[in-house]
Amino acid sequence: MIPADCGPATDGIEKDRVKISKPTIAVEENTVVYRTEIESEDGRRDLWFRLDAKYADLVTDSCDPALVGLLIPAMAAGEDIHLSGPISERLYYNLSGPCQNVFGTTIPILDTIDIHPAGLRSKSGRPPGVATGFTGGIDSFCVLADHHYSPDCPEGFRLTHLVFNNVGSHGHGSEGERIFKSRYARLAPFVERIGLPFVALDSNLDSFYSERLGFAQTHTPRIIAAALLLQGGIGRYLSASSTDYRAAAIYPCKYISSTESICIPLLASESLDVLSVGHQYRRVDKTLKVADIPDSYEILDVCMREGDRNCTTCRKCLRTMITLDIAGLLDNYPERFDLAQYRARENELLSRFFRKKTGRGKLRGEVIALAKETGWRMPLPARLRTWLYKIGYPIRRLQRPLKSKAKKMLWKDN
Ligand SMILES: [Zn+2]
Repeated sequence: MIPADCGPATDGIEKDRVKISKPTIAVEENTVVYRTEIESEDGRRDLWFRLDAKYADLVTDSCDPALVGLLIPAMAAGEDIHLSGPISERLYYNLSGPCQNVFGTTIPILDTIDIHPAGLRSKSGRPPGVATGFTGGIDSFCVLADHHYSPDCPEGFRLTHLVFNNVGSHGHGSEGERIFKSRYARLAPFVERIGLPFVALDSNLDSFYSERLGFAQTHTPRIIAAALLLQGGIGRYLSASSTDYRAAAIYPCKYISSTESICIPLLASESLDVLSVGHQYRRVDKTLKVADIPDSYEILDVCMREGDRNCTTCRKCLRTMITLDIAGLLDNYPERFDLAQYRARENELLSRFFRKKTGRGKLRGEVIALAKETGWRMPLPARLRTWLYKIGYPIRRLQRPLKSKAKKMLWKDN
């Protein structure tokens, strides 16, 4: 199955190919560093992953993390990948065909490329560790609900480790690294309290992605590359889904999340089982599951903006707060949201949220459905606002073209 010209990478830069060297693993101060040299038309530089030395036993010596992490950049450059170290036979099979089809359909600028490994590992056998990424958000808290807090979780799916990655979600370069460390420090005391190891996994993987390969469109292989790094001790990785099964689809899109349930299982190796979990829930269902966990009252993080506390005004905050409000659970979160600010504007916010005619996003539609399912009714002042808005709508619609005409006339006169 391996192409004939799959030998080790040689010295001298050649065109139309990217070479990934056999990784080295070294202890540097209190950390363990996995490093591979990457050679392409752009020159030579290292891809590295770094974590606390106490987790050295988790780190793989295979090229799997580098291959998965660099597949999309290589496809974007139209460069075949040549590896001088071994990779998983299963990954080789899935990355050579099915995965490239998923990524290439989602991101049409990508080319199909060939992968030339130095050897394939087909021996089965998973280590006992079970891990997931933890950010404090609704999706990852929902994984904890099912795989840590639930007494019904089968032992083989019960979490033994939480991971916090720096693979592009915190921003670029030194500022991204600063935010990565700051967010980890905020979550670490909570994770210590619930009794799980919390692996901080730093990396320069993001620097191999150009501006046109944004995180929202490429996060899946980045995150699973980091998971594959840990396949020395982690045998099952539970990736927190961000969509439900009804959203599963593959089409050109700026967001890769609709492909998660399809492509994440394709990124498993013989040593690491990779599952995309939580697709059976709508976002509102996840929010209510998380609200059943008292630990979330002090750490839940849903905000689009940087800060110690959720901002209370962005669309993610409002959607979450209104979901919790409908369920009568919002008052459990005084440490995470500015409840006084929300209550002061509650009637205006609810009226605007429920009356909006355009941009009925899927997640907002779920909140509206939840209100109907539970028989929730807006407070009377909010309903009055909505009613006044609706009767004023025809007048505002008539006013719009008149205002536009007036503006044009003024512009001409000047
Ligand atoms: Zn916010």
